[in-house]
Amino acid sequence: MCGIIGITGHEDISAELINGLTVIQHRGQDAAGIVTLNGRFRMKKGQGHVSRVFRNFDPEAFQGKCGLGHVRYATMGSTLEVDAQPIAVNYPYGLAMVHNGNVINFQELRRRLYEDNMRLLDTSNDVALILYTFAAQLEKKDLKHLKVDDLFDVVSEVQDLVKGAYSALTIIANKGFLAFTDPYGIRPLVMGRKLTDQGVVYAFASETTVFDFLGYEMMRDLQPGEAVFIDNEMNVHSKILKQKKQAFCVFEYIYFAREDSVFHERLVASERVKMGKKLAKTFQEADIDPDIIIDVPNSAYFFASGLAEEVHVPYRRGLAKNRFVGRSFITPTQKERENVVKQKLNPIKDIIKDRKVAVVDDSIVRGTTSRHIIHLLREYGAAKVFFVSASPPIKFPCIYGIDMSVRKEMVASHYNDNEEIARVIGADAVIYQKLEDLQELYQDLPICDACFSGNYPTGITKEILDHIEQEKIGSDRN
Ligand code: AMP
Repeated sequence: MCGIIGITGHEDISAELINGLTVIQHRGQDAAGIVTLNGRFRMKKGQGHVSRVFRNFDPEAFQGKCGLGHVRYATMGSTLEVDAQPIAVNYPYGLAMVHNGNVINFQELRRRLYEDNMRLLDTSNDVALILYTFAAQLEKKDLKHLKVDDLFDVVSEVQDLVKGAYSALTIIANKGFLAFTDPYGIRPLVMGRKLTDQGVVYAFASETTVFDFLGYEMMRDLQPGEAVFIDNEMNVHSKILKQKKQAFCVFEYIYFAREDSVFHERLVASERVKMGKKLAKTFQEADIDPDIIIDVPNSAYFFASGLAEEVHVPYRRGLAKNRFVGRSFITPTQKERENVVKQKLNPIKDIIKDRKVAVVDDSIVRGTTSRHIIHLLREYGAAKVFFVSASPPIKFPCIYGIDMSVRKEMVASHYNDNEEIARVIGADAVIYQKLEDLQELYQDLPICDACFSGNYPTGITKEILDHIEQEKIGSDRN
């Protein structure tokens, strides 16, 4: 998963890009970068947090009327700087691109680019693949007289060729600014605007929280398969190109996005409260009698408080969190992840001691976090510990950009029933959201729930799935 931002129309956008990236830092901490256009591309990118990459940054040197920003969470490819985004090419046009998602036919496209276009892809980063594919299609057009419809044709070709999830932003030098999504709209992309003394400025971002922070008015979500082109006169052209049945990633609501962001007119915080309330039935049917409900800070607060309200069990904050340690999942190796969990959470003794505690988290993937928390709670005197997952069991790899693609690591993929999982993570009981209950919440917003159901909206062959898993096993992150 990554976070992207694009702005066009401003005289000096680099400070906005960098500030905007800081509020979507939670979407990726491996690398960060920006590119601006002012007669030529100026690019800065590097490994680590935004504040680190841009520590001695001089915005003056990066002035430009349009630009892109990216925070990277390496799901595929390495965490090295060479794979950081944005990327830019100078032929057939000056093009720069950022994207969020994951391309699933990487090998096939790489081969095709080599055989048909003699292009060598020298990174394992899929944004290069999208950009080169885009460039190869663009080359076929009459570049001197390029029209908006030509650009839309090019995006349509890209959507035919590139399989998987992508929300992409592109600068086309001397022509304008282009945003597009895959035909299923798996990853989020929102569009906003603001009026300045210099005229209207448009921005695109992975999350609306960027707009709140930078003072943009939210306009809308991009639709599945849509392309929006803003020309140099700031005219907006948009068209739905290749569109399939929408499959918006439900994990954005469950875990990934910030609670104040809104996608498809649904506030993330409210979605989490609804999911918490939805858990009530299963919770009451389970043979448990908790004295209190606590959450795993921070993302589980809304689930826990929604559930507590519904089942009339008091909610308390039972775990203190060190706010200066990053998300446990978004760190490269399993060993590092375990250490981060240790540094991050500490039970609040008097709240826990001698109580039967139901602890709510957004999900259980490998079981590292839950096992550690249950152990801690017992150490601090909890009489019983029930572990509640706001999401259904995660059993299938995400091939669309979330780092949980190895089945053998997933507890729910390994073990068949909740008792076994409870034993493995050391809980007195485990309660999961039921998939059908989650789906009931999304009857009017078609979602991707492949990590729970195994139904991949794009379709997938066993060979590609195995290949993605093998690559994952061999990559730096595992
Ligand atoms: P695990 O410790 O492997 O069971 O992972 C579960 C923990 O990681 C939970 O506390 C979540 O907050 C977080 N988490 C769950 N799924 C993801 C994901 N796909 N990406 C990043 N973090 C996640």
